[in-house]
Amino acid sequence: MLRIDELSFWEKTSYFENIDFLIIGSGIVGMSTSLYLKTKYPNAKIVIIERGYLPTGASSKNAGFTCFGSPTELFDDLNSMDEKLVWKTFSDRYHGLKCLFDLVDPKSIEYDPCKSWDLIASNSKNEINPEFIEYINEKAKDLTGIDQIYSEDKLAIKTFGFKNIETAYCNSLEGGINTGLLMKSLHQKAVDAGVQIVFGIEALSMEATDQEITLDTNQGLVKSAHCIIATNGFAKQWINEDIQPARAQVLVTNPIKDLKIKGTFHYEKGYYYFRNIGDRILLGGGRNLDFEEEETTKFGTTQKIQNALESLLTQTIIPNQDYSIDYSWSGVMGVGANKSPIIKMLNKNTAIGVRLGGMGVALGSQVGKKLSSYF
Ligand SMILES: Cc1cc2nc3c(=O)[nH]c(=O)nc-3n(C[C@H](O)[C@H](O)[C@H](O)COP(=O)(O)OP(=O)(O)OC[C@H]3O[C@@H](n4cnc5c(N)ncnc54)[C@H](O)[C@@H]3O)c2cc1C
Repeated sequence: MLRIDELSFWEKTSYFENIDFLIIGSGIVGMSTSLYLKTKYPNAKIVIIERGYLPTGASSKNAGFTCFGSPTELFDDLNSMDEKLVWKTFSDRYHGLKCLFDLVDPKSIEYDPCKSWDLIASNSKNEINPEFIEYINEKAKDLTGIDQIYSEDKLAIKTFGFKNIETAYCNSLEGGINTGLLMKSLHQKAVDAGVQIVFGIEALSMEATDQEITLDTNQGLVKSAHCIIATNGFAKQWINEDIQPARAQVLVTNPIKDLKIKGTFHYEKGYYYFRNIGDRILLGGGRNLDFEEEETTKFGTTQKIQNALESLLTQTIIPNQDYSIDYSWSGVMGVGANKSPIIKMLNKNTAIGVRLGGMGVALGSQVGKKLSSYF
């Protein structure tokens, strides 16, 4: 492959010279940032570099839940995080979704406000009681203006045909999107706005002066007036803060006749999640079975987790139904002890927006908006 210094006059001047904003990473954050910057600076030259031939992190590999907090997750967070921070994160995600829908038409990404259910297994301790539901409803109403978002829904077990589930809590505002359509739509919008996206370039290191940044890449040096790092689970090399990669594995079944499951579902405090895609089931999770092995930037699936996903399908989600697995894959998230993203300036001309955890669908565009506000 030709390195940047071997390119033609036309190629260099079109793509790699006089760059105003160089964005590293073409996930939801990188793409959204480019769109907000283009609105603010229509004449700016904005280039996104992406090391994969597709976005290769989490944005094109996720489950597509528009999730902003299930009761068991909120319960856990309230036990381990400051209460104010828990509700700020809730609010950021809820309002972040509105930000996403300002950028892309919900219909064009098949947004379905299908609700979500948080399932409590029969063999686990149910820590959620009516007082807790009342408390989260009050807090959620203060932040959204909407009454009674959460409610217990025991009927869900029968409606969806689950086994080994004690009860379910419904979140009436959650839903799902088509992840592939979201990424294609953001890509198309960025291109239409005049953003240049170059695939196959990996940023290696950066030198910054007050005037510009120089990025060393696997294809040679690139200079820009400003830089935005949107590499999420791969960000450790750029920032000395609590951010770790977290691999997440997913599978999709074959089409299942008369599938009862319609909606998005959380199980075991969100460590497992599943939804229907038409008459197939998408199921992911199980990272808690081996946190150490899954703290990796390497893609791939493991037998241990795939087996756990399959046994959840057989024993709980679609008991007594035959199925096969048509797709399985993994993606890499960026996580830390603190669930809020890291959004800050790294030097005079470089901003970073990473650590979106399992919430990037709801948070990603808002992170992009915030990053653009620094310039
Ligand atoms: C399996 C799975 C399921 C999920 N389910 C959901 C869900 O249902 N709902 C939800 O809200 N969130 C979910 N998430 C989380 C969500 O997908 C992420 O929070 C979000 O996509 C993060 O977006 P991002 O743009 O910050 O990062 P990414 O999408 O990871 O984008 C970072 C990009 O940077 C590129 N890159 C990295 N390093 C370099 C480099 N040095 N040079 C050039 N390019 C580089 C990568 O290739 C990648 O394309 C899930 C994640 C996974 C993995």
